[in-house]
Amino acid sequence: MKVVLENLTKIFPSRNKDGSEVVAVNNFTFEIPDGKLIGLLGPSGCGKSTTLYMICGLQAATSGKIYFGDDDVTNLEPESRGVGLVFQNYALYPHMTVKQNILFPLQNLKGEDKLSKDEMLERAYNVAKLVQIDELMNRKPSELSGGQQQRVAIARALVKMPRVLLLDEPLSNLDARLRLQTREEIKRIQKSTGITTVFVTHDQEEAMSISDMIVVMKKGIIQQIGKPQDVYDSPVNLFVAKFLGTPPINVFNGRVENGAIYIGEDKVASANGIENQEVIIGIRPEGFILKENGALKLKLANVEVMGRDVSVVSTKEESANPIIRSIIDADNKIEEGKEEVTFDIKPNKIFIFNKETEERIYLEGQTPTYVPQKEEEKVEEPALETVEETEAVEENTEE
Ligand code: ADP
Ligand code: MG
Repeated sequence: MKVVLENLTKIFPSRNKDGSEVVAVNNFTFEIPDGKLIGLLGPSGCGKSTTLYMICGLQAATSGKIYFGDDDVTNLEPESRGVGLVFQNYALYPHMTVKQNILFPLQNLKGEDKLSKDEMLERAYNVAKLVQIDELMNRKPSELSGGQQQRVAIARALVKMPRVLLLDEPLSNLDARLRLQTREEIKRIQKSTGITTVFVTHDQEEAMSISDMIVVMKKGIIQQIGKPQDVYDSPVNLFVAKFLGTPPINVFNGRVENGAIYIGEDKVASANGIENQEVIIGIRPEGFILKENGALKLKLANVEVMGRDVSVVSTKEESANPIIRSIIDADNKIEEGKEEVTFDIKPNKIFIFNKETEERIYLEGQTPTYVPQKEEEKVEEPALETVEETEAVEENTEE
């Protein structure tokens, strides 16, 4: 089932006396392809959960439309939408067994959808098997590990055979190892059921590893949509470049001068056809090639050997961060006690950004993989003096 989100906007009325409303989701437009897993990614407070709650109907959209296939579900009650929802805190009924927890959504089905007892049990055992908890059906939630509890929550969301599965930071309460394992599980379950899924997370690595496509959000606004690798390889702005990747991208203040990119006095790459200007420069940690008399001179601070790779820690006046981190192959040898280290830069690992707007400036050989939405289409951040408008919104909000 494809899910179409059309100009979806959510404005929360002010909680404060100053009358400033919150545009939690701003003109969100995206068609989620049938059967895909979409990662909704961004920092805390950027509107991920609000987007999810509008899709499932727990929150009414201020404006915009939601379609499941060709059905307009914008004004449907959550129960009628056919969505399965899983939260960060598993929200299981503590006094019920695993089996009773999974059966619960089925026992409330009415009319045509009503199932016989045998049908319910069959469905419950089928999903339990799918998420591999069929051996635990008679336990109480308190007798399960966090990972097992989250599987029960997923089974409960799947048992009604939802048209769309929505997961809101489902792994955040698990420890690192379980998080890895459970995310593999979710991917497997999603693939085998083919249910269109939206997976919300603030963890870029999680989103990158699990998603067919990612949607990166900032302050309610979509920044970039694409396959994880495409977004990583060709970010549209500095925010996206900084948000994806561990270790994070290295950022420098520099300039374009006579068709070349300079960091301080170092000419690090060519910038054919680009006007002279000050720019922000990003270089991915894997974009450095160790070379004697290389283009970029850095002050060596530390060399950390990490098995396969070496992480070179250095500094430079023009760096926007206290340290610069370069990841190079462990075959490279750096003499101990050296004060300076020099690198050449891989042309596909260096990005430049407009100093004011922080939008990407594409170099020769670099092509955009995503074209951002136009600025005019978005809702203006409300000014503080628009008190009348705020009141009007308050009247229209049913919560
Ligand atoms: P995320 O899930 O990405 O962390 P949310 O969707 O929860 O972000 O929140 C987006 C913005 O909307 C935040 O600024 C948050 O404070 C605000 N917000 C969320 N829910 C409400 C609400 N019920 N009333 C007022 N503001 C809200
Ligand atoms: Mg949230």
